[in-house]
Amino acid sequence: MVGVDQVLTKLATVIDPDLKKDIVSMGMIKDLELNDGNLKFTLELTTPACPFNDQIEQDVRKAVGEIEGIRNFDLNVTAKVMEGRSLAADEAMSTVKNIIGVASGKGGVGKSTVSLNLALALAQSGAKVGLLDADIYGPSIPLMLGMQKAFMEVDNNKLQPADSHGIKVVSFGFFAEQEHQAAIYRGPIISGILKQFLVDTNWSDLDYLIVDLPPGTGDIPLTLAQTIPITGILVVTTPQDVASNVAVKAIGMFNKLNVPIIGVIENMSYFVCPKCSDKHYVFGEGGAKRISEKYNIPFIGEIPLNSGIMQGSDKGKPVIITDPNSPSAEAIRAAAKNVAAQCSILAAKLKEEMQGDAAA
Ligand code: ADP
Repeated sequence: MVGVDQVLTKLATVIDPDLKKDIVSMGMIKDLELNDGNLKFTLELTTPACPFNDQIEQDVRKAVGEIEGIRNFDLNVTAKVMEGRSLAADEAMSTVKNIIGVASGKGGVGKSTVSLNLALALAQSGAKVGLLDADIYGPSIPLMLGMQKAFMEVDNNKLQPADSHGIKVVSFGFFAEQEHQAAIYRGPIISGILKQFLVDTNWSDLDYLIVDLPPGTGDIPLTLAQTIPITGILVVTTPQDVASNVAVKAIGMFNKLNVPIIGVIENMSYFVCPKCSDKHYVFGEGGAKRISEKYNIPFIGEIPLNSGIMQGSDKGKPVIITDPNSPSAEAIRAAAKNVAAQCSILAAKLKEEMQGDAAA
């Protein structure tokens, strides 16, 4: 009669394509019961947004189908996002599993647009997501969500994030009038504000907190990299050389600080002609891909140029919500899956390192 060992040996032939590890050693098989050929277990994937979730499930079903003596198979598929940062080292934010800083070398490349739509796409996949608009000099998230009049409540000395389309949002724009900001706030004060937004906000349980950083390599990106353990940085660029060159500078800074780079994403990559559906690379082609190859950084995706993105942003209507079937929304969803996959990869590395440390 078929035994549990046999089942696990067979399941161990299923490899997670991102993590390049078998699903048994990654602890993805839970609550396994085997009675008289009736097999039941839960497959716990590392993120609901993994690009390979369907494939892994199919591979599991195929593997089980090849085991002799299984009469019935009851599979429950869930996802539990892995911790991509050391929560033990960060008591103040121990309910936030991953923190993703979104950075760019220069302004206007669409960093806030990408941050917001990425957050929404991850939330749509079933993850618990927060968005911190830390672009202190020009917080645009309130405008992009139509929340210019929103304000933050304080409860038990903790900021209560606003809720929009299922994500938790905190923005510096909820607090201050923009004209006065840049002149007033300088280094240490800015760092203090960011720390408060991170630590003194009631984020509750989050799978991913996206932090929209100001462009460049100033105080805020530096503070984020140095204050708390973060999963990594996503770098946004556009195809032009001027954007790529400064993006590389930002990557250099995070490398020096030993902060992992989740990947590089190119915005405004091409224009899809509405008449012929051809892609036109109006600003040149392949800038982010070249960065990815040269610096050995994952390539996360390309988002097309789309006037709907701009108009929607100005009216508080993010493209992923209002035009979910557009090429831009599809590109963002694909990018979100790649971001989630890279977070799982970083989480798996971290887990291995921690196990190594514990064994040493
Ligand atoms: P950043 O945060 O880098 O300064 P924003 O996200 O604020 O950039 O975007 C700058 C402007 O470009 C905004 O008006 C935004 O709506 C527009 N934009 C961003 N991405 C796209 C895109 N893919 N297609 C068209 N317009 C875009």
